[in-house]
Amino acid sequence: MTSASEPLAPSRLTVNSGALAANYKLLREAAGCETAGVIKANGYGTGSPNALETLKGAGCKHFFVATPEEALSLGTAGLYVLGGVYKGAETDYAAQGLIPVLNSLEEISRWHSCARRVGKKLPAIVHFDTAMNRLGLGAEETKKLIAYKSLLDGIDVRYIMSHFACSDENGHPHNEAQVQRFRAIAAEFPGVKASLANSSGIMRSKDWCFDLARPGYALYGGNPLPEQSNPMSRVVTLEARVLQIRTARRGETVGYGASHTFEKDTTLATLSLGYADGFLRSGSGTAKLFWNGQPCPVRGRVSMDLITVETGHLQNPPQTGDFMEVLGPHQSVDDLARAAGTTGYEILTSLSPRAKRVYTG
Ligand SMILES: *Cc1c(COP(=O)(O)O)cnc(C)c1O
Repeated sequence: MTSASEPLAPSRLTVNSGALAANYKLLREAAGCETAGVIKANGYGTGSPNALETLKGAGCKHFFVATPEEALSLGTAGLYVLGGVYKGAETDYAAQGLIPVLNSLEEISRWHSCARRVGKKLPAIVHFDTAMNRLGLGAEETKKLIAYKSLLDGIDVRYIMSHFACSDENGHPHNEAQVQRFRAIAAEFPGVKASLANSSGIMRSKDWCFDLARPGYALYGGNPLPEQSNPMSRVVTLEARVLQIRTARRGETVGYGASHTFEKDTTLATLSLGYADGFLRSGSGTAKLFWNGQPCPVRGRVSMDLITVETGHLQNPPQTGDFMEVLGPHQSVDDLARAAGTTGYEILTSLSPRAKRVYTG
């Protein structure tokens, strides 16, 4: 917890690539089938170039991003784009080797026309909605596609897929219902490979994995089974720099809105971490940081670039220039999410470029 190695860093985000690879292998084992890596949103905040390379090294051959720019920024052809083929961008996708997840008949029709224009078959995944009502062919569109398979002429359908709405909830009735709907759809496309499960779905049942599993969150150490202890290895450690130590007197307040009043004299550490760094403002007054394993409550409001934590109770409190634990052995992504009233997905993807990313083994 020294500052010497990163003298200019306001905060340090250490990404353990070995843990990422180990998580991939554990998920692949649990899935019992080909397993992709979901590396959208900058690899859930950890850095998508590192996620891509690390997962490739672990044997991963299929990658999902959300947007075409996320795919292009990685400079690798053959990535699957969950957001589909944007209207008017079909030839760009084809030229750049992007593989869209086709989310409606309208998209299928545009990709089909593009294939005819460029004079070759174009790869795609076809997405059926089975409960999300977000993207994917709905029941009516699904019926129509099954009746008119020629709508897919010119399209090399690599997989059909669907996506769970509630797989993080053990025993949610949507889960089995979605599996049954998807199984019925898959039966109409014999010989075409199928993909359904995300992180939680994989860990709940091998039977939900079909031919290609699609984990994201659990790769990065998030707990896919919230009702039990986390089987995944920790990938992310976040530490923030102490800028100043102050004394606060009984009756004084701290921060914007003076939301916290001290009941006794204490000391405060002001750290270089705020909501612009991804430390959510909803953690004001409820979240903690850790120093040598000791919790230090956040006092007052989280501001854009700074937070204040109470350190008056510590035997050997941190000093200016020390780095305190935000995420690490004493506080998981899921723990901090609970304290801030959100999910670990939002904690990870909120991590900003301000945090100096350090990649280890
Ligand atoms: C984000 C996403 C995933 C990965 O989900 P996790 O819960 O992070 O494992 C899989 N499939 C689709 C369609 C997604 O949007």
